[in-house]
Amino acid sequence: MTTSCYYDPHCVDHDPGVNHSERSARLKEIVMALKDPSFKDVRWPAVAPGRKEDILLVHTPAYVDFVFDSVPQSGYREIEVNDVVSDYDEGEVTVLCPKSGDAVLYAVGSVTGAVDDVLTGKTTNAFCAVRPPGHHALPDKAMGFCVFNNIAIGARYAQKRYNLGRVAIVDFDLHHGNGTQAVFEKDPSVFFCSTHQLPLWPESGYAEETGAGNILNVPMEPHLPREAWLQRWKDLVLGRLEQEAFDCLFVSAGFDAHKNDHKSCQSLETDDYFRLMADLLSVAERKCRSRTIVVLEGGYDIHASASSAAAVMRALLAAP
Ligand SMILES: [Zn+2]
Repeated sequence: MTTSCYYDPHCVDHDPGVNHSERSARLKEIVMALKDPSFKDVRWPAVAPGRKEDILLVHTPAYVDFVFDSVPQSGYREIEVNDVVSDYDEGEVTVLCPKSGDAVLYAVGSVTGAVDDVLTGKTTNAFCAVRPPGHHALPDKAMGFCVFNNIAIGARYAQKRYNLGRVAIVDFDLHHGNGTQAVFEKDPSVFFCSTHQLPLWPESGYAEETGAGNILNVPMEPHLPREAWLQRWKDLVLGRLEQEAFDCLFVSAGFDAHKNDHKSCQSLETDDYFRLMADLLSVAERKCRSRTIVVLEGGYDIHASASSAAAVMRALLAAP
């Protein structure tokens, strides 16, 4: 059993502006928590920048060019028009700074590097400590602080480069993984499951949205008691995952359903993230020889996100 963490300092340099929720301190604090001496067995392999050919597995050539052409020489540039109508939305959008071009490449490279190492047996499981996040990014559009869909690129790359038949993606971020759903909703070779609060931006992810039978959306209403959230996780998410076949498990790990997160009307506690990850790893042991790649998404309370990421890392290190 080996656990590795994929991180490059370029991901900290992405700056969407003063007082933006998706700020550098999120990742700095998480990395500090993951460098704790109790995690001395975690490997930290060097990360290479992502390749354009891999980004094109998910995104359109025109959008990829638009992103890199939009990186400003100085200051900030908004690359998203937020037209979602939601009572639960602070109106923040995706913004690039001069260093965002490198950050988005290293975020993708962290995930494809993790795929390489997990699928060649160099590591059993992996945590990708990346930003900007990815699960809202559509094939041709930035959305919700997400530029490239890091986890969707990783899943497609795993299928193409390593001939994997089927992969599963589980997303427990507070928000619906609408970008990931859009990429795979017509593709039964990927099973995608998202838990998320509804109503909440981006106001998608209703249970009726099932794609080609390969999508499971598990909405959680605002102020759902923690016990009810966890029961739904067990009955619906784990119950369904047990019925699916897959060769590698990807996890979109956002920590904004934590009770301390200002975007959340949910009440998960730090230790619950250990439980969620341990549950997933237990299924992964039986389904895909434990091959698991966790990718950081949202989470806006700096301390809750860091302690929750550490809880996930504890589960990865203790994986069966
Ligand atoms: Zn989120």
